[in-house]
Amino acid sequence: MSTRRRTLSGLGAGVAGALAAGGLGPFAAGDARAAAPQQGPLWPEVYRFRLGAFEITCLLDGKIAMDGPHPIFGQDRTPEEVVELCRANFLPGNRFVNGFTPLLVNTGREIVLIDTGNGAARRPQAGRLRELLGRLGIAPWQVDVVAITHFHPDHIGGLMEDGAPAFPNARIFAGRVEYEFWTAEERLSGPTENTAKLVRANVVPLSERITFLEDGQEVVPGITAMSAFGHTPGHLVFHIESEGRRLLMWADTANHYVVSVQRPDWHVRFDMDKQAAAATRRRIFDMCAAERLPVAGYHMPFPALGFVERTAESWRFLPATYQFEV
Ligand SMILES: [Zn+2]
Repeated sequence: MSTRRRTLSGLGAGVAGALAAGGLGPFAAGDARAAAPQQGPLWPEVYRFRLGAFEITCLLDGKIAMDGPHPIFGQDRTPEEVVELCRANFLPGNRFVNGFTPLLVNTGREIVLIDTGNGAARRPQAGRLRELLGRLGIAPWQVDVVAITHFHPDHIGGLMEDGAPAFPNARIFAGRVEYEFWTAEERLSGPTENTAKLVRANVVPLSERITFLEDGQEVVPGITAMSAFGHTPGHLVFHIESEGRRLLMWADTANHYVVSVQRPDWHVRFDMDKQAAAATRRRIFDMCAAERLPVAGYHMPFPALGFVERTAESWRFLPATYQFEV
């Protein structure tokens, strides 16, 4: 029995529908090509690999070049200190590139999307998720589950499309603490105003379909939420495990692959609670380094996969090369 047929046997309606509609991969239409490995970079914005029995696809919603890293990163440091760290890591000190990488996990039973990107309407140059799913042969209705790490606009921007649910059949999973924080009346003024308004437009209308996650709660078998508070009050990461292979989707625990990992205590403008975010980084880097746990990080350089190594004074992020393809 071919791998493809074996995979087909245990599928939910969404996956079976996707296969019927032309397959999950871009080459699935022809049998000979379907038998070829579909791992590694399929296109510059799409990277696919196997994790046990799961098939995981990293999707580059977009990337934007910005001024910095200082003062966004190292807000409490001098510009010179941040520039020096950048130079030591062969990075420019005045510009950096920020990418946005949601994950699609095909468990063999269901298609699970972790975070939804910026949304095409909100940010056309960096809201390409649905376009990429379409090129992969996955229609929005075929996504069975959407799991949200936190409610910043670059993660919930793609939840609604033209005022309607972007993934009409999906069960939604989101953190209870995050939801309660952002929907409180007092968030509608001050620095939280814009995000709170987006939460009311993109998340609140879906509330009937949301399962509110607590620390340690399962989304689907093999995908578990873990509290990683600090970046936002209810920020979650997802532990993914299949057949003994593991991956931590750490979302926005670290938002710059050099500055946030090598200097976890430096203040980051996007972190709502600087102390808690730093403590979470230390805890999660420790776990990843000690357990040699592979990482998917939403803002890490595409395909946003890598490893954390302990160094004499802190940690270092090692971007993946071919580890996920062999
Ligand atoms: Zn983010």
